[in-house]
Amino acid sequence: MSLNISDIRSDFPILSQTIYKRPLIYFDNAATTQKPIQVIRAISDYYEHDNCNIHRGVHYLSVKATEAFEEARREIREFINAPSTHEVVFTKGASESLNLVAASFGKKFLLPGDEVITTIMEHHSNFVPWQLICEEKGAVLRVATILPDGELDLENLYSLISERTKIIALTHVSNVLGTVNPIKEIIAYAHKQGIPVLVDGAQGVSHLKVDVTDLGCDFYCFSGHKMYGPMGIGVLYGKEKWLEEMPPYQSGGEMVKDVTIEKTTFNELPFKFEAGTPNVEGVMGLRAAVKYLKDLGMDEIRAYEDKLLQRAVSSLSAIGGVRFFGEAPGKASLVSFLIGDIHPFDAGTIIDKMGIAVRTGHHCAQPLIDHFGIPGTVRASFAFYNTADEIDRLAEAVARVKTMFK
Ligand code: PMP
Repeated sequence: MSLNISDIRSDFPILSQTIYKRPLIYFDNAATTQKPIQVIRAISDYYEHDNCNIHRGVHYLSVKATEAFEEARREIREFINAPSTHEVVFTKGASESLNLVAASFGKKFLLPGDEVITTIMEHHSNFVPWQLICEEKGAVLRVATILPDGELDLENLYSLISERTKIIALTHVSNVLGTVNPIKEIIAYAHKQGIPVLVDGAQGVSHLKVDVTDLGCDFYCFSGHKMYGPMGIGVLYGKEKWLEEMPPYQSGGEMVKDVTIEKTTFNELPFKFEAGTPNVEGVMGLRAAVKYLKDLGMDEIRAYEDKLLQRAVSSLSAIGGVRFFGEAPGKASLVSFLIGDIHPFDAGTIIDKMGIAVRTGHHCAQPLIDHFGIPGTVRASFAFYNTADEIDRLAEAVARVKTMFK
């Protein structure tokens, strides 16, 4: 079934506003997506009816809030097809999930001289935590490169694997190039050599059907706010065998089983990694976002967004002088580009004045931007609530920028 975009748009109150006397066109979805009314209501309903600290009360509200929180965990487990709710840890977001694994896995398993492999297309959140833990442990960070069209250079990636490789950490979808990495194939290859794989799914879950069991990944990390849910909530999926062995990342209430003056024992999974009062409102919002995505259907979303992408690529190409970064086959729905030698900030500022929100700069992926030897790009990233007409407005705006700088 195809999506009814005008119905969908009416679920997103923020989209109906005008800015600079023009209808807002929101193409900054890779930075954060807008929230449907169902998500906004789930949060306000929680505070109106159910607010309470969870897991530790015997009274009515506490039990009700705890049940809703754990039901949300079950629904999120099902959404990514994780084998068990023990493997679904709530975090602040993808960055916290990635930091958790780098710090905790690194503490337990990295020795001096060991190696971690990542890629040049990583967001800083899946790069810097590994850089830091490698520095601390005397380990070496190896960085796989890309092909000219923005595909991961698999030959190069595989050539970096050695008997010292302890983990491969890579993104599912690049937030700059839109490249969808063949992670299932990479995971199978790595597993043959006994190497676990972490996948940064921050840009994956909103565009693709994610099945962590089918992928076979050891860790999968994502943020609520990039999948139509609230900010400040995210998920770490981790295989039980790793999470059991990994030491706690943070400590405090909730993550302990027994505390004496001499010693502390830790709670079972996933609570061992959930110190302190969790973001219950965030979990309620994320649960509503997951339901929203499931109701639309990830395959329908992917098919519609792909049409938007094809229209953007052809209409921007027709202008002439637009240089794209990331042209891998099957890429996700975003375009990163430069218009001649116009600085991306200048282009983005003019495009904004025409009512269109695009992102400019290095997109928190400086090693990748350095690889291209450019100051940054203009990035337009699409969601299922965007329309063909909005894409045409973007092409007009880009043509205008080109004329202004002639
Ligand atoms: N990884 C990727 C690929 C991203 O695009 C982002 C956000 N731009 C992150 C990680 C970090 O996500 P967050 O800021 O929500 O923690």
